[in-house]
Amino acid sequence: AKNGGRNACRVFKCGMNELIEKRRILEADLEIALQRGEFELYLQPRVDAASASIIGYEGLLRWFHPKRGMISPGDFIPVAEASGKIIKLGEWVLAEACRLLQQVDGRISVNVSSLQFRHSDFVTNLAELLQRTGADPRRLELEITESVLIDDDKRAVQILNDLKEMGLDIALDDFGTGYSSLSYLSRYPFDTIKIDRSFVSNLGLAENAQVIVRTIIDLGAGLGMKIVAEGVEHIEEALFLAQSGCHELQGYLLGKPLKVDEVAREVDPAIAT
Ligand code: C2E
Ligand code: CA
Ligand code: CA
Ligand code: CA
Repeated sequence: AKNGGRNACRVFKCGMNELIEKRRILEADLEIALQRGEFELYLQPRVDAASASIIGYEGLLRWFHPKRGMISPGDFIPVAEASGKIIKLGEWVLAEACRLLQQVDGRISVNVSSLQFRHSDFVTNLAELLQRTGADPRRLELEITESVLIDDDKRAVQILNDLKEMGLDIALDDFGTGYSSLSYLSRYPFDTIKIDRSFVSNLGLAENAQVIVRTIIDLGAGLGMKIVAEGVEHIEEALFLAQSGCHELQGYLLGKPLKVDEVAREVDPAIAT
């Protein structure tokens, strides 16, 4: 048994080394991927729950690696964060969002990682970008998760207030999955709450999920926030959410993330009715 344990340990270490090696290669490739233009900011529609018209889009990053094909953000964002490359990448995403605003109607929301948000030049660079491109800050929303706010309370509030003063909206992403979501709602000036997909995809299964989703909607709406549901895949979910007062829907039912020239400009009338 002892021997088996040692072997298992060896296997584990080998697996770890492979993982580290994979990360190292990805990290090195990230460096040149930006220069080579291998990234694309896909857009996914955000749809008004009452009228089923498209209000705007969320920008979602895709990496088209020359050898590995498309790599999803779940695989390379953590690497970019760990290596600090997320700063440059995040700047590219914001610049690309400003460019795409000229090609679509409505608003674009962009995911901002913790390191990027806390970088000392974040607000200044963003202000400069808006100035340079002439993009309307009221058409730009920043999506942040709870993890961005974990510590350094005062500084986070300051940054959020600066951004809001510039005219941007702030969304709390993945709502309900963190530890202290509730206290954050009163502490930080969010415009929007995005209900995490895990609650939405449980709507059909667990009665509890319906109660939780309805309560989140009432709570957020009561605080004057806009409520967006993510990961809407089924018409029943869309109907329940709309009836419960959710403002916006996002998910494969309404439209997949696609590049700008392929993305939906209106929702399929079959779903809208
Ligand atoms: P997220 O911000 O929670 O984005 C929503 C994710 O759910 C996206 O995955 C989207 O493609 C996926 N999704 C949308 N509708 C549905 C649906 O109906 N069903 C299912 N099963 N999935 C749906 P994606 O594009 O793979 O992105 C994963 C995560 O990577 C994002 O989660 C976000 O945290 C991060 N990410 C993506 N783009 C960026 C970026 O530009 N910057 C940063 N910092 N993070 C990004
Ligand atoms: Ca998001
Ligand atoms: Ca989310
Ligand atoms: Ca997420």
